[in-house]
Amino acid sequence: MKTIGVLTSGGDSPGMNTALRSIVRTCAHYKIKCVGIVRGYSGLIEDNTKVLNTRSVRGIINKGGTFLYSARCDEFRQASGRKKAYKTLRNNNIDGLIVIGGDGSFTGALKLKDEFNFPVIGIPGTIDNDIFGTSHTLGYDTALNTVMDAIDKIRDSAISHDRLFFVEVMGKDAGYIALRSGIAIGAQEILIPEVNTKINDLIDSLKNSKKSGKTSSIIVVAEGYKPGKNVYQIADEIQEKLPNYQVRVSVLGHIQRGGRPSCFDRVLGTKMGVKAVELLKNAKTGIMVGTQHGKIVTVPLKKAISEKTKIDKDLLRISKIMNT
Ligand code: ATP
Repeated sequence: MKTIGVLTSGGDSPGMNTALRSIVRTCAHYKIKCVGIVRGYSGLIEDNTKVLNTRSVRGIINKGGTFLYSARCDEFRQASGRKKAYKTLRNNNIDGLIVIGGDGSFTGALKLKDEFNFPVIGIPGTIDNDIFGTSHTLGYDTALNTVMDAIDKIRDSAISHDRLFFVEVMGKDAGYIALRSGIAIGAQEILIPEVNTKINDLIDSLKNSKKSGKTSSIIVVAEGYKPGKNVYQIADEIQEKLPNYQVRVSVLGHIQRGGRPSCFDRVLGTKMGVKAVELLKNAKTGIMVGTQHGKIVTVPLKKAISEKTKIDKDLLRISKIMNT
């Protein structure tokens, strides 16, 4: 393993820079050349690369986003695009590739492995935490803290005006961000795609809390919770049925992706970067670096993308107890 390539792909997440820094410095430690590929698989197709040394990654451990840029690249989904990508890998004498991204990026990496027998390792970089085999993806912890801070601020307004706030958070297919942040901010209800909460149940819950003297409430809604209605339509229906509340909607959006990575994500990204380089160095391929119970673990990429982590039923139960 003389030269390792690295790219970031899909949605950016806090901690990607930290992992890049770790990969570059681990390569330097083992006297391996490190080549950064700019803008994910697009850069691989267009041969947009740059050699990275320890100085290239100074001052980025605390920066959100990814200094290598990220992209979604449709051409890489075609066999012809992947052929071009493979040519770039060969032209740059790259012997193995580390892909930092989500399940789509891992699917692409596996195709490089299967079609060209090219060594690949994945690092799960996504705020959604929707990758099997790791308790935390890189960026998830930072996103949770961002959501928590934002909702704490919204709560100030909710309390001052006796308002009912619906706060939409990211998570198209998964409610991990909503469930955890919802518990952390003391949400009245947490609406996630994995649980079929009926609007009538929500109304009952709000009526009960009103009876017990509660004057303001926060409902955390995952993007993927869609009982045939979006968050604005749900809020309208509740406003109609509970006219005593002043109902408001706040969609947190892209602020959840940005910001300085938390201490947890910085340490995780650093540990994952070291492990990814060492796996390639030891001729391992088709593997994702994950974490479980605070320790770094390895999971076959195939398994990481084909299986689904179940929502934590105990957290759901706890959130219900907190509502009483
Ligand atoms: P996020 O979780 O943030 O959405 P992701 O890695 O899942 O990250 P995607 O947009 O799904 O994001 O995938 C990123 C890129 O990976 C795509 O733009 C494409 O280049 C590549 N990719 C995704 N799916 C495939 C596939 N089936 N075959 C080949 N390449 C793919």
